[in-house]
Amino acid sequence: MAEFHIPFFRPAIDEDDIQAVVETLRSGWLTTAGNVKALEAELAAYVQAPFVNAVNSATAAMHLALAAWDIGPGDEVLTTPYTFSATATVVVHLGATPVLADIRAHDFNIDPAEIERRITPRTKVIIPVHFAGESCAMDEIMALARPRGIKVLEDAAHAIGSMYRGRMIGSIGDATAFSFYATKNMTTGEGGAVASFDEAFSERVRRLTLHGMSKDAWNRYDAGGSWRYDIVEFGFKDNLTDFAAALGRSQLAKLDQLTERRTALAQRYFANLRDEEHLILPGFSEENRQAWHLFVVRVRNESSPVPRDDVIRQLAARGIGTSVHFIPLHYHTAYRKLGHWRDGDFPVAEKAFEGAISLPLFPDMTIVQVDEVCEALREILSGV
Ligand SMILES: *Cc1c(COP(=O)(O)O)cnc(C)c1O
Repeated sequence: MAEFHIPFFRPAIDEDDIQAVVETLRSGWLTTAGNVKALEAELAAYVQAPFVNAVNSATAAMHLALAAWDIGPGDEVLTTPYTFSATATVVVHLGATPVLADIRAHDFNIDPAEIERRITPRTKVIIPVHFAGESCAMDEIMALARPRGIKVLEDAAHAIGSMYRGRMIGSIGDATAFSFYATKNMTTGEGGAVASFDEAFSERVRRLTLHGMSKDAWNRYDAGGSWRYDIVEFGFKDNLTDFAAALGRSQLAKLDQLTERRTALAQRYFANLRDEEHLILPGFSEENRQAWHLFVVRVRNESSPVPRDDVIRQLAARGIGTSVHFIPLHYHTAYRKLGHWRDGDFPVAEKAFEGAISLPLFPDMTIVQVDEVCEALREILSGV
């Protein structure tokens, strides 16, 4: 990656972030303690949900949420093929069955009509993924889920700070998972959280996060805590470290600023590429606030003189890094082996994937760099 003079991504870590981590390291408390508690409270206020559990990844957050709802063999969990593997892997690990529903072409988000077609009496959970930070059709999804007693777990790995029709992502579904992975809009290196409205659920997640220990056991980290604990059920080991949480608090404090920066860069991409006939620009709704985790364009492979893969190669040759989000789940070997799907099952997702390129977008990117990426794209797509 070192050869890219405009990388696809670079994390936004400043001196305040470094200081926050260093102070925590000096404090002597390395694992889950005060910073984790404080991060949970600050996240709860930010995403407008009463309960937040900070954990060590979004993958863990989703796994714990499903486990806390006792999802297991015989249960079906509906999600999109247009996501990172983690969204569906956690379903498989619990012994439940992932069911995939195709996306909408304009914003790559799961299509409520496709969800409805695939709901069965075994459907227990729907996991919408807010692709690139654009909110899914939550009103429609909740209206399908609620009367049937189906839970909604939002995969908001791309969507911290996003809003759906004036409501924060995190304040809508039964539970919402966020990612603080290195490349996400705010980071703790590795980390994540699950927001919810249900105290009993949140307490169960807390127990499952740390070996299934009784609630009191968590207090053994407090001064004067005791050595005594009880394993109430079989849990996992998904807790967040306190220095990661310190980084998270520092990042959260400036998240809105980082999102504004992403938005300005996205607007520049739109202004520059509006008239490029060989590209389809990302769709979004004016009713929502988009966190712009990704800026994904689609090459019109039918008409473009240069197909998507060559565009990526030629951008790389000019020192411009890109990525592709996502390879549809049913294209992967492990998913193939489940035997549920074949090529052609999700035509909208397949077509989206064939044209998709994620362009460089990170808070420290400059407008001049956006212009350079666009100029390169235009030259490449002219085919000369
Ligand atoms: C990054 C990502 C995840 C996984 O997040 P981790 O914190 O790395 O576990 C899940 N879903 C989507 C859509 C993602 O992009």
